[in-house]
Amino acid sequence: MPPQHETQLSPKILVSDDDLNVRLLTRQCLEAEGMTVVEAASGPETLDIFVRERPDLVFLDVEMPGMSGLEVCRRIRQMPQGESIPIMIVTGSDDRQSIDQGFDAGATQYKTKPVNWSLLGRDVQYMLRASHAFNSLKRQEYRLRYLAFYDPLTSLPNRRSFNEQLNRILKRSQRHDSSAALLFIDLDHFKRINDSIGHGRGDRLLVEIAKRLTNELREDDAINYFSDHSDNDAERNTEIARLGGDEFTVVLSDIDDTTAVESVARRILNSLSQPIPLQSHNPVVTPSIGIALYPQDGTDPDTLVRNADTAMYAAKADGRACYRFYNEEMNARAVEQLKMEEELRHALHFNELELRYQPQIDTRTGKVVSMEALVRWKHPERGMVPPNEFIPVAERTGLIIELGEWVMAEAAKHCIYWDSLGLSDFRVSVNISPLQFNQPNITEVVRDFLDRSGLPPERLELELTESAIMTDAEINIEKLRQLKALGLALAVDDFGTGYSSLSYLKRFPINTLKIDQSFIADLSSPDGAAIIDAIIALSRTLSLRVIAEGIETAEQMRYMVDKQCDLLQGYYFARPLYPEDVPNMLKEDFLDYFAPSIGSLTRA
Ligand code: C2E
Ligand code: MG
Ligand code: MG
Repeated sequence: MPPQHETQLSPKILVSDDDLNVRLLTRQCLEAEGMTVVEAASGPETLDIFVRERPDLVFLDVEMPGMSGLEVCRRIRQMPQGESIPIMIVTGSDDRQSIDQGFDAGATQYKTKPVNWSLLGRDVQYMLRASHAFNSLKRQEYRLRYLAFYDPLTSLPNRRSFNEQLNRILKRSQRHDSSAALLFIDLDHFKRINDSIGHGRGDRLLVEIAKRLTNELREDDAINYFSDHSDNDAERNTEIARLGGDEFTVVLSDIDDTTAVESVARRILNSLSQPIPLQSHNPVVTPSIGIALYPQDGTDPDTLVRNADTAMYAAKADGRACYRFYNEEMNARAVEQLKMEEELRHALHFNELELRYQPQIDTRTGKVVSMEALVRWKHPERGMVPPNEFIPVAERTGLIIELGEWVMAEAAKHCIYWDSLGLSDFRVSVNISPLQFNQPNITEVVRDFLDRSGLPPERLELELTESAIMTDAEINIEKLRQLKALGLALAVDDFGTGYSSLSYLKRFPINTLKIDQSFIADLSSPDGAAIIDAIIALSRTLSLRVIAEGIETAEQMRYMVDKQCDLLQGYYFARPLYPEDVPNMLKEDFLDYFAPSIGSLTRA
């Protein structure tokens, strides 16, 4: 508790004496100085009035009925609000022993009777001033300690407190031979949400998350924001902290089995995932939770923290919004990923990446209208690594930003070269990963790239995934408009795999829907065909062009041509090509492929 007593305009003085005359005289002196006086005639009454009136200073007579002034003094000192209040003990005995007893009981000042009434007011003023100075010092000290151990935004214990909590709990668990669990909580896509709702609202969101965590765990009845950091709180078995940013921790001690931990994790998951009301926005923020157990997953804080962190990443990798208990395989996978991350960094700087190009063919003209750039990694030992293996790592580590810019630059170089050969009747399509698209300044990044490379914007198409543009769709409308205004074309990749809001789809300034190849592969089933028909109908309604990727067979091509799909792409026409082979491909004419087969409808 912060010290409460401050010198007020009219300080309140509690005068406690069983002698009515003394009380009256004291009152007169103090009121003359502008102070308010409350009186008590016995020890118990003094304590009562002290609690009720919260005075700024107490006069105590030593000899009183019921309880001696010394005992009253001692008891006041034990109350939180009495810790630092000035107390003046007034007594008839002035021997050394009595004075010592007074100070031992907690007195601030000691006065012997008879009291010099003319000086009393001034003495009290002096004591109040000293007490005021002392209290403001205490408040400063308190604030410093608060800042050292608590996060000022959420009022949760901070990283430093967390380290102490964990240390303390592990030591205690060892002593009691009991189990504990460390939960690492990281909010999914927080950075993106924060950027899009603004940092002020982002802060409010974090405060709300902290509140929900606290409320959710309160029934374990152990969270004490203002404990001092000593070892005397052995009863507590739930500790929450904010490590910084969107990272929170919960430490549970004295757990019986993992079911209890699981239930806590599930409660947290459920509570945090409810929409957060913030004025016009109601963002939904889900957490990914990693759990490490003491002693099986680690006996020292460092190991437990590392393993909970690993488990948290596994939760992210498993699609986020879930919790995962740590296990050994995760570690192996994490090591593998870390290795790949390092190698990928190296690959970026030592030209181990290459592009292939796969043609997209117009079913009306039979001509190649676009070349999709697909990245490859020529690994010195492992040979060609397909993008599905390293793009997710690049995405998770943020390397995708640099990688994506390399792809754009490389594709622009190729395109400009083909241009110089007189081949300029097509676009290059570049895949933009969700993380790239979510950069708040993606428009500037693309504009700079166009300026620097000299690639005419109408030669470029960006392929954005459905889920990337549908998450935070409201904000993306503006982003897509700005990108489109640069003069390039926009396609929605892997369409049908995410979930699209049609009202947004209508408002997005996109050119093309790319039916995901899984539906083409599934074409022989009635469901597969129905989905394709629906997507084609939808694109007609929205006046969008539609492309089918992953065409591998004549039957698949036939079906799509009959359904008047605008563009086709797939191994049936060409595998992704080396850049050297692109010029020949651009000269190809596929119109023969599309000639109507007997029995199928002819096109208008
Ligand atoms: P995507 O953008 O949907 O690209 C189509 C993928 O399907 C490519 O795989 C392509 O080689 C493959 N494909 C093309 N025709 C057929 C076919 O007839 N049958 C089958 N089974 N597959 C076909 P790839 O090159 O392995 O790329 C996989 C994914 O990796 C891409 O899917 C894209 O999401 C990502 N990717 C590739 N290059 C880049 C890049 O430069 N940047 C980003 N962000 N992602 C990329
Ligand atoms: Mg693509
Ligand atoms: Mg695709």
